[in-house]
Amino acid sequence: MNAKNLSERLKTVASFVEKDTILADIGSDHAYLPCYLVHAGIISNAIAGEVVKGPFESAQKQVKSENLEENIDVRFGNGLEVVKEEDNVGTITIAGMGGPLIASILEAGKKKLSTVDTLILQPNIHAKAIREWAIKEKWKIVNETILEEHDKIYEILVLKKGKMELTDEELLLGPILLKEKSPVYKKKWKNEINEWQRIIDQLNNIPLTTDVQSKKEELQTKVALVRELL
Ligand code: SAM
Repeated sequence: MNAKNLSERLKTVASFVEKDTILADIGSDHAYLPCYLVHAGIISNAIAGEVVKGPFESAQKQVKSENLEENIDVRFGNGLEVVKEEDNVGTITIAGMGGPLIASILEAGKKKLSTVDTLILQPNIHAKAIREWAIKEKWKIVNETILEEHDKIYEILVLKKGKMELTDEELLLGPILLKEKSPVYKKKWKNEINEWQRIIDQLNNIPLTTDVQSKKEELQTKVALVRELL
């Protein structure tokens, strides 16, 4: 993968970026996503934020090698700390991390979201944490998609400001994904059911304490709920 030949996962994230928005890509690693978007003529200005020195230097190197230093400002810092009000950022992308980490980055940086109208988030796991954060902070899901690449399944959530209410089922599965029930969605949740069932089988082979019992019941409830919604 490079900035011109992006993974399907990042291409799908890119497809949700609106023309001429100012982008902050947090956890940018090689800055492939902002480089791709500038080359594609979708945006002309972006910030690439990184908190780890190696990926930060890779992002700097990539931006330099693509002659995009005028367009993409690579900044070292934790989460939304790299965003300043005067940047007038309209869109934030955070991709390739766990849902709880993405939610914690947004929570810690929520004061930086005043100019932002779109969040495009690609959690590798536990998208539910993002949906819970969105409800609490009054962001609503306007789009969701799911894709498979190299045997891994990824969800992408697009949020805009606004209130939303979700049922427990929608929180876990995604309100739009649940309606669409795509083949990849079905594959993801069949895999999850198998994994939960595997854990239940293991719990059946150890002494039954109250903790074991409640874990078993929690997993059995999830299996029954999700099986019904496939
Ligand atoms: N966004 C790229 C993608 O989707 O291909 C890179 C994903 S990589 C797995 C996650 C990156 O996020 C790493 O480079 C890591 O250093 C960075 N990261 C993790 N926590 C971060 C934080 N709090 N602030 C900024 N960057 C962070």
